Amino acid sequence: MIQISKIVITQAEKEAVNNVLDSNIIVQGPKVAELEDKFAKAVSCKFAIAVSNGTAALHTALSIAGIGPGDEVITSPFTFIATANSIVMAGATPIFADIDEHTYNLNPQSVEKKISSKTKAILVVDLYGHSVDYGKFREIADKHKLLLISDACQSFGAKYKESPIGSLADISCFSLYATKNLMSGEGGMITTNNAEYSSKAKMFRHHGQSESVRYHYFGLGYNYRMTDINAAIALEQLKKNKSFTQKRRENAKYLSKKLSSIVGIETPIEESYCFHVYHQYTLRILPSYGLTRDELQTKLLENDIQSNIYYPVPLYNVRHLSAGGEKKDFPITEKIVQEVLSIPVHPFLQKKELNKIIDIISNYEKK
Ligand SMILES: *Cc1c(COP(=O)(O)O)cnc(C)c1O
Repeated sequence: MIQISKIVITQAEKEAVNNVLDSNIIVQGPKVAELEDKFAKAVSCKFAIAVSNGTAALHTALSIAGIGPGDEVITSPFTFIATANSIVMAGATPIFADIDEHTYNLNPQSVEKKISSKTKAILVVDLYGHSVDYGKFREIADKHKLLLISDACQSFGAKYKESPIGSLADISCFSLYATKNLMSGEGGMITTNNAEYSSKAKMFRHHGQSESVRYHYFGLGYNYRMTDINAAIALEQLKKNKSFTQKRRENAKYLSKKLSSIVGIETPIEESYCFHVYHQYTLRILPSYGLTRDELQTKLLENDIQSNIYYPVPLYNVRHLSAGGEKKDFPITEKIVQEVLSIPVHPFLQKKELNKIIDIISNYEKK
């Protein structure tokens, strides 16, 4: 089976984990601190705060920014559900805006239309590894005095112009889940240049307890700590991240070279402001192609090729999130959920596997 994502654990990760297990400090110890330090440097940000997963990072970011009941946060309906769930977890209301037809990221004009007197923040999502247009979102956030928070869970290593994702929003959130571009099994990271947010995030992940005075609490917090076991894995993976990204980009380039001329297949774009890290390589299957999107997915599977639909359900159709908008406001999202299909692009693909994928998709071009 050609998998949609692949995890490769080498001797280096195993040794690093064993060292932690032998060290007597296995939770939020020196390896977590080292990972925070290296992560902050990697995204050119002053502070990085490790947490237990990406959802915890988002919940922490919104909560320490003071977002809660009665507040609205504008976000994308075309993302993993954790993006919007985190807004509900903070006690606020997700309000959805429509997306751009080619990057699949939030459309700035659509976002601006959804701003109300209750809006506190814009939660942008750098979907599939492609940066949002931070210049435009910063302008809108500043004009309306809103916070700009980034769900960068799929975009470690990506850039907007020359700036790494993670350094552009007021607070950025990453996931180190097993399938993400940088992974630790389960894990999350918050990055910010704001010292107060950094300090609050450190308390929030540890029951709201003061960093310096034990059993002194600033408010409600959670247990969102990362383990040193997970941090040790991420530190080893981080060493290889640049070469993994390069491989993803080469694979994407090769796929696009061969697939972009097929009638009815639209290959991913990389805007001039973006350095894309291809967490996903996502095609649009248009009616002019020889098979429907779902038929193509079945054909690929019959040939031992995994593919996936990220995401088939717009979040305004999810019952507990449906206060956030109505179908008619989202013509682009409505269309895109019917058309997208993500195919393998991970760094461990062989040339012959890429060629097999290309052959099958080429085979069903409408004659
Ligand atoms: C993975 C992901 C999350 C959640 O991260 P977890 O570590 O699984 O909690 C949130 N948002 C997006 C866009 C993601 O891809």
